[in-house]
This record gives sequence, C-alpha cells and structure tokens, in this order.
Amino acid sequence: MRCEEEDELLEEEEAGVARPVQIVSADEEEHSFSLQEAALERLLLQDAVQDLHVVVVSVAGAFRKGKSFLLDFMLRYMHKQSGSWVGRDDEPLTGFSWRGGCERETTGILAWSEVFVVEKPDGCKVAVLLMDTQGAFDSQSTIKDCATLFALSTMTSSVQVSCSSSLQSRCYATLFLSLCLSLFTEYGRLAMEEVYEKPFQSLMFLIRDWSYPYEHPYGLTGGQSFLEKRLQVKQNQHEELQNVRKHIHSCFSNIGCFLLPHPGLKVATNPHFDGRLSDIDEEFKAELVSLVPTLLAPENLVEKEIGGVKITCRDLLHYFKAYMKIYQGEELPHPKSMLQATAEANNLAAVAGAKDLYNKSMEQVCGGDQPYISPAELERLHAEHRQASVRHFRSVKKMGGEDFCRRYQEQLEAELDEAYTNFSKHNDGKNIFFAARTPATLFAVMFA
Ligand code: GDP
Ligand code: MG
Repeated sequence: MRCEEEDELLEEEEAGVARPVQIVSADEEEHSFSLQEAALERLLLQDAVQDLHVVVVSVAGAFRKGKSFLLDFMLRYMHKQSGSWVGRDDEPLTGFSWRGGCERETTGILAWSEVFVVEKPDGCKVAVLLMDTQGAFDSQSTIKDCATLFALSTMTSSVQVSCSSSLQSRCYATLFLSLCLSLFTEYGRLAMEEVYEKPFQSLMFLIRDWSYPYEHPYGLTGGQSFLEKRLQVKQNQHEELQNVRKHIHSCFSNIGCFLLPHPGLKVATNPHFDGRLSDIDEEFKAELVSLVPTLLAPENLVEKEIGGVKITCRDLLHYFKAYMKIYQGEELPHPKSMLQATAEANNLAAVAGAKDLYNKSMEQVCGGDQPYISPAELERLHAEHRQASVRHFRSVKKMGGEDFCRRYQEQLEAELDEAYTNFSKHNDGKNIFFAARTPATLFAVMFA
C-alpha cells in the first residue's frame, strides 16, 4: 500500500468514516491467511454491540461476481429501513465498491466498519455484521486457499451467500460442494453427536445472470426448484458427492437458492457505470428488491448459533481466533480439529462471560467509586459472586465433554481468585489507616 493511501485510511478511521475493513488477509505467496486481530476487536468490542447476539452475513465468491455491488445495496437497506430503500435513480453506489473500481483485488475477508443494531419483531436487539469473502479460483494452488477461506467464513457466519454466475454454477457448485461441504457435513456429523443441533444456519446460493427463466423462474421459488434438481442424488454420481448431497440438509438449518437476472449491459460492460439505478435493468431491480429484505429484514435476520446457543459479538471474537489457528496449516483442516477448535472457543467464551459477570458484580460493591469495606465482608462477597460466576459457567451449554469443560472451569476459578486479589488490594488502598503506614502520616491524615 502506498503511504499516502495508508495515511488517508488512518485519517478516515479516526474520523469514523464507515468503510470496508480487512479482517482476514491472505498472503498469496505463502498460501496462508492471517487475522487482523486489532481491527476485528475494534469492530466487535464496541460498547453498543459487544453484548448483543450477532447476525453475520457473508457474501462469498470469486472476483468480479458482483459481491461489492450487492453489498452496497445491502448497506442502503441497512441505512434506510423504511420507505423505498433502493435509492434514487441517479444516485451512485457507494460502500464496498468505494473508490470506484481501483479496489485492489486481494483475497480475504472484509467487514463493514459499522455494526448495525436492529430490533427484531420480538423486541430483541441484534448486531448485524456484513462480510465480503473473496476467493480466487484461477489455479490449482488457489483452490485450497479458496476452500479454506469459504470454510472460515461459513464457520463464522450465520448467513452464507455464495455468489456464482449462471455459466459457472455447475462447476463452481460441484467444486464448492465437494470441497467445503464434505468438510462441513463431516464436521456437522461430529458436532451433532454432541449437541443434536444443526451446526450451521443459512446457506444461500445466489446465481447471477440467470438466463433460463422459462425453466426455473427468477427469485427464490425458481432457485428452490433449481437447487432441488441439483441436489438430487443419482446412482451414477461419485459416492462422495452422493453423501454430501444426502447430508447437506442436516448441516444447515436452511438452504436456499436465488436466481438473479442479468443486470443489463451498462452494469456489465460500461467502465463509467457508477451503480445508479437508471442504468440497471428493471427485471434485475425487481429481483434485487425482493432479495435484500429476504436476507436482512428484521424478521428474517438469523443469529449466529454455535452448539445450539446464540453468540454475542464478543464471543465471535473467540471463534475467529480459534478457527484462524486451525486454518494455518498446509492441508485443509480435519473436521475433528474444527470441532476441537469450536469446543475450545466455546469454553473460552463461557469463561469470558462468567468472568465478566463476576467483575461487574464486584465493581458494584467495591469498584473505584465505592467506599472501603471490611476485608471479611469483601471475602464473603467474593465467595458469593465467585460461586454465582462458576454456576453461570456451568449452566451455559458447552461442547467438548465434561473433562474438557472442567479444565476451563479450573481456569475460570484461577482467574476469579486473581481478580479478587486485585479487588482486595484496591480496597485496602481506600483504607486511610491502612494506606498511612507510618505514625507520622497517620497523624497528619487524622488531624488534617
Ligand atoms: P466483486 O469483485 O465480486 O466485488 O464484483 P463487483 O461488485 O466489483 O462487480 C464486478 C463487475 O460486475 C462490475 O462491473 C459490476 O458492475 C458488474 N456486476 C455486478 N453485478 C452483476 C451481475 O449480476 N451480473 C453481471 N454480469 N455483472 C454484474
Ligand atoms: Mg468486491
């Protein structure tokens, strides 16, 4: 990156300008991925969202599959929840495709810097994170990278929108199905032995430039019939593919397919196209207006669940870190190690939640603004809140089995005792008799 550009990015970040943020970056030479931990923490640990259940919508696909284009419309929807959200006819598109076209084509995961807070019809508030997952399919060596990236975004998202063009959908779907889904189905099978819950939520195949509306009509219904045909198990198929097709429904709670028409020649070929609606075909607009709310309307938002439990933005951070570790190796990760990493992150998130509960309760009785209390009373309160915290940890549904969880409980107990030591030091500091150790200062304090 040029320095100027870097400065500009930093300035924008300081000014709080909403923009795409790289959270997973790829080293194409090393064929490895790395997590931009600081950037991800800034997103997920914002006060307004860290404790909310998270909805993670990932739009995944190769380069130039219209991901940014779609995400920009999704942003418009998120910004204007009522009335017409698609925008004015002459309004250029901004957002992920920001800086018109000069976007560097790197693989990895970008997230939108604003995490949206949305109230669902039942009154619960959720945090919505939008991700752009970009892989490359151009050579053998990158197929594994791509599968890794898609696996990573599927593991961390609650809605995976997989974009492909009509022409490519056959080979792409086959590749995607056999590489990633066999991993997921095996993972799903292992995970279900433990929790009986489908491990992933929504998978939506988005097929663009659909040109056979007379066979399968545009939109969700046509997509559904197209998908059913694709997922049919036939005798002459490779056995592995047959298995994947049989089990894919037990992996995802919801699998859909949406057929989008071609957006028109201006969109596809005009280099000066800036996203304005007047340049987009009516048919395409009509389908877009039905697609985006299907994914993002408050009543359709799907919270991320792991092991059958909804997770918060803060929890998601633990999962990202854990999954990142297993995707570092040479080979595609083994389903067992994916499950292991999930169980680990799952327990770590429960430790963090329980510790937070303890800290908040203790802050209330002996935090910075509270007066000094007697050490005996403090110890009693510690014992009470420690017990509540451990009880909370035990009550959270966790993966990995009893022995595994026990290790994390021990870790929690040690951390609580350490926190107690700090609270009690702090409390001692408030005691003027204790703080003033020498008779002279004691005297000074008493008679000041
Ligand atoms: P990304 O690389 O996947 O993010 O793709 P972009 O959103 O940047 O779009 C790449 C190009 O495809 C742009 O010129 C868009 O105008 C165009 N485009 C967007 N959506 C579609 C579509 O559904 N069909 C076709 N043929 N082109 C599209
Ligand atoms: Mg893009």
